[in-house]
Amino acid sequence: MTMLKTSTEELLAAANEAILFIANRPQVVMEHGEGMYIWDTDGNKYLDFIGGWAVTCLGHSPKVIKDALLEQSGKLIHASPGFYNKPMLEFARMLTSLSGLERVFFGSTGAEANESAIKLARKYGAVRKGGAYEIITTTRSFHGRSLATTAATGKIGWDRMFAPQMPGFVKVPFNDIEAVKQAINPNTCAILLELTQGEGGVYEASSVYIQELRKLCDEHGILLMFDEVQTGLGRIGAMFAYEHYGVVPDVLTLAKGIGGGFPLSAMLAKDAYNLFEAGDQGGTYTGNPLAMAVGLAVVGEVIQRKLPQQAAERGQYLLKKLHDVQERFGLTHIRGKGLLLAFDLPEPRGAELAAACLQAGLLINASGPSTIRLMPALIVTEAEIDEMMTLLCKIMDQLFQGADPQIS
Ligand SMILES: *Cc1c(COP(=O)(O)O)cnc(C)c1O
Repeated sequence: MTMLKTSTEELLAAANEAILFIANRPQVVMEHGEGMYIWDTDGNKYLDFIGGWAVTCLGHSPKVIKDALLEQSGKLIHASPGFYNKPMLEFARMLTSLSGLERVFFGSTGAEANESAIKLARKYGAVRKGGAYEIITTTRSFHGRSLATTAATGKIGWDRMFAPQMPGFVKVPFNDIEAVKQAINPNTCAILLELTQGEGGVYEASSVYIQELRKLCDEHGILLMFDEVQTGLGRIGAMFAYEHYGVVPDVLTLAKGIGGGFPLSAMLAKDAYNLFEAGDQGGTYTGNPLAMAVGLAVVGEVIQRKLPQQAAERGQYLLKKLHDVQERFGLTHIRGKGLLLAFDLPEPRGAELAAACLQAGLLINASGPSTIRLMPALIVTEAEIDEMMTLLCKIMDQLFQGADPQIS
């Protein structure tokens, strides 16, 4: 290709001068990807165990997504939210039959799906529960960055962010059923939680907790809402995380994986909660044909290739590899299911390790000061897991043992 090439220096100048600051990002610029690998503008290759932040479930730039975009963009890119379109209705059938929840609303981001769930819960409270509006959420949870989902989020400090915050969210400790019982009052309309807290550091809900929650919600007429933005679509070794619990929610939110990298989210609800009136909810891009075509292609591929089952197997393999080196590096609390895994380092040096891995061509996520999270594409092979472990061990040797004067 003979395109005029902007140098990495010029691009980074734009990064530092033209991008509104939101985070300290490494001084590299990603340019193209294929499968488990991504390349920067200097041609450096990275093995990607961040997976686009648990998003690129089929790997980078898979053919099925390229084909779907090409085909659909030749037919219809956008119809207007005022009309149904063909891929929208096909994708609605696919997701509702897959989940068993009969109704779906489409959005573009996880936050938007959760906003929809919050609005639906308040609508339910208004029309069925005498104006109840409180939603119980859990500490250490993450539900998004819009104002309502920020208020719903249970990360430390987030309860004071962008004050005054939207009222109506009551936080309880995760996996503590007694705390939920105490929080329930006549004002409660719903409980919203993740089945594995992803951003919080990969903490799984216990089976009894979720089963008890289902009973409590039924007893009190409260909506049980699962945020499966991160855990959904095969990530933790089942199509939906709730299958591990034998509990079906009233409302389910999905994003990240279902677009495979294209902005796409969904809120599903049981038919009994098909409660919005005209004008209550919407969005310019709801059911956008391009997004729907991608969703059809991605979810179709995940089903056809049995990727949830494969994620379960590869996750077991990766867990075993981590346990094999646990003692050597003093790793603790190796945890998670499927391809949403984490472990703790003996010291709070997660960011340093992630930075050193980046230098060496491996992308991993430090989700806390001592916590490393792994969330590769669902298509990851055992050979790619071996490659990751070799790199990771090499870097940990250099970083942790190399710094030890007794060894050097
Ligand atoms: C990422 C995430 C969100 C927010 O999704 P966005 O697409 O960033 O808005 C919400 N809930 C959970 C559990 C997530 O992991």
